Amino acid sequence: MIFPNTPLRDASKITPKYAKTLEKLGLNTVQDFLLYLPFRYDDFSQIISLSDKYLGSVITVCAVVTKTKLNRIFRRKLTIAEIYLEDENQTPLKAVWFNQPFIIESLPVGTEVRLSGKLETKGKYFTLANPAWEKATREKTNTGQLVPIYSETPGITSKWIRWQMKNFLEKCSSLDDFIPDYLRKKLHLYSLISALRQIHFPENQEKLLIAQKTFAFREIFLMQLKTLQIRDVWEAQSSIRLKLDEKLIKKFTKNLPFELTGAQQKASLEILNDLEKVSPMNRLLNGDVGAGKTVVAAISALDALSQNCQVAILVPTEVLALQHFESFCKLFKNYDFNIALLTSSYKLINNCHDDIKKITREQMLEKITTKKIDLIIGTHAIIQKDVNFKNLALVIIDEQHRFGVAQRSVLQQATMELKDGKKKSIPHLLTMTATPIPRTLAIAFFGSLDLSILDEMPKNRKPIKTKIVLPEQRDQVYVFMRKEIDAGRQVFVILPFVEESKVLTEVKAATKEHKKLSLIFPKYSLGLLHGRLKSTEKETVMQDFKDKKSQILVSTSVVEVGIDIPNATIMLIENSDRFGLSQLHQFRGRVGRGEYQSYCFLFTDSCTKTALERMRAMEKSNDGFELSEIDLKLRGPGQLLGKAQSGLSDIAMENLNNLKLIKIAKAEAENILKTDLKLKNHPLIKKALEKFAKDAHLE
Ligand code: ADP
Ligand code: MG
Repeated sequence: MIFPNTPLRDASKITPKYAKTLEKLGLNTVQDFLLYLPFRYDDFSQIISLSDKYLGSVITVCAVVTKTKLNRIFRRKLTIAEIYLEDENQTPLKAVWFNQPFIIESLPVGTEVRLSGKLETKGKYFTLANPAWEKATREKTNTGQLVPIYSETPGITSKWIRWQMKNFLEKCSSLDDFIPDYLRKKLHLYSLISALRQIHFPENQEKLLIAQKTFAFREIFLMQLKTLQIRDVWEAQSSIRLKLDEKLIKKFTKNLPFELTGAQQKASLEILNDLEKVSPMNRLLNGDVGAGKTVVAAISALDALSQNCQVAILVPTEVLALQHFESFCKLFKNYDFNIALLTSSYKLINNCHDDIKKITREQMLEKITTKKIDLIIGTHAIIQKDVNFKNLALVIIDEQHRFGVAQRSVLQQATMELKDGKKKSIPHLLTMTATPIPRTLAIAFFGSLDLSILDEMPKNRKPIKTKIVLPEQRDQVYVFMRKEIDAGRQVFVILPFVEESKVLTEVKAATKEHKKLSLIFPKYSLGLLHGRLKSTEKETVMQDFKDKKSQILVSTSVVEVGIDIPNATIMLIENSDRFGLSQLHQFRGRVGRGEYQSYCFLFTDSCTKTALERMRAMEKSNDGFELSEIDLKLRGPGQLLGKAQSGLSDIAMENLNNLKLIKIAKAEAENILKTDLKLKNHPLIKKALEKFAKDAHLE
């Protein structure tokens, strides 16, 4: 018998080495491990005969080995095992595996084998690259059914996880289930243990769906509880009333190098009106990339700053924090505000007349507390417990979607709990996002919330020309790039995030591409930006690009967030089909910010119908709201809301467009909180909620 709270390192069959790797994944107990859910399934339940109609899909085929061949490429330290096979109709198939030479010995000519993988073609052969396989005589475990695939990490494979999971599920004693019986019955959900059994080893598609719905409900229910709890507390608070000084705002906007769009004016007014009230503002400013959210934020900040209050601006990355610091110093250069940048690696102040100065964290904290600083810009370093504000009236959270939907409520709570000398009031909250979220979803999801929308682009924008580029057209694009660079422009090259193995591959891919392009464009200087660089290194690379010291910036997806380089006119995206449309649209928004005609090139070698359909949508539309609708239809809401940063599991994300489920979760949560706001009579829910909030926190 194993208990759910048994530490993994004490479980039999788990060696200390494995336990350590699991700990790195945040898995400490048996229960944690059981809740490590598959992120997808290979549907091996149908064995097919090879045919064109399956191209591009994941299939299982039964075939006999006819020839084997092992190639070694010494230069690249690579072995390629090639196995030639024939299915029941003698249709030829070639399967290849990289760096698994032993497969040749395991699969001699004449062996009958089941293979599962994505079917492609090369020449006269159907091909499978690195397929899952097993001999046809074996019982179907790794193929021939719904096989769970877990997010892997070096040293731990899905196969190993499946084996351990089976063992634990058989031996584990009962598990506490925080979902009350009446709710489970009402919604036809599984108990936790049954849900776990079906999610890891589904008997069939139907039971899997119920299990997924069960897990989705659990999370969405917790999230609703958290959101509602926070809402209730939020609404009972008061904030500093900021009297609108029209003259001051007019003077500020008159001195801007451009005229505000109608949408910017309307949104600014909505915010300024909110700030006049004693009840705390909770408003989301939603506007496409480049719609000009920053200046709306500046107007709101000015209102508070000029009334002797502090303002904090919170952003998801250091690069963006630095950029905002620079923009706000510029925007407020005629005012007497002290502006600071606080992230884990920067502590800078600018007191408008002096140059920018570096100070220590202690000095920074001291200056914030004594109000020698008026405007604090930073990453979540500014909402740490040791930061004590003085008269903080407004918190602005930019690019909120990057923090994730589940973190929204956590951020709201953190905002409420910020320490302030006076502490009689909480700050007003303005969040900004470039991800268009349908209104119904936003309201259902975020509890009570006011929305302002920037649906009008600044007038001087030329629409960006977007084009899909097939492999054979690559050189043409490079010729065009050269022409643009010689005319003084700059180019972004973006490489996608490779999901299975996270950072390392991404860094490798970017480094390789940087090398390759340096050879193709020897005359130019090329910058390289990726997640493994230190912040100071990142900053140098960005600054060099801004200063036009480099002409091409090769980057992983880290530059997605709001960087402003008006001189860049080309956005080139490799393997663009791997990105969601909203994300591609965000990348594209990095160009077209200046006076020049800009271009976006979407490189792809995927010719599947949906991939092309999605890329065509990019060619046709420059409208983020429209694209997100299309993405929602083609790829589901997970992509739309930014899966990786959402703080929710994939399963919950996939159920997010199930508006009915969200509404039920909300109604049931409200029902419980009505009589038991602190959850004193629901200890299991309380415990689960605490863990949920902790997991969703900003790390
Ligand atoms: P985002 O909404 O993506 O945060 P920004 O606030 O960074 O957009 O604005 C993008 C660019 O557009 C900035 O260079 C900004 O100065 C400029 N801009 C903002 N509003 C206007 C406007 N009304 N007319 C012209 N340019 C504008
Ligand atoms: Mg922005």
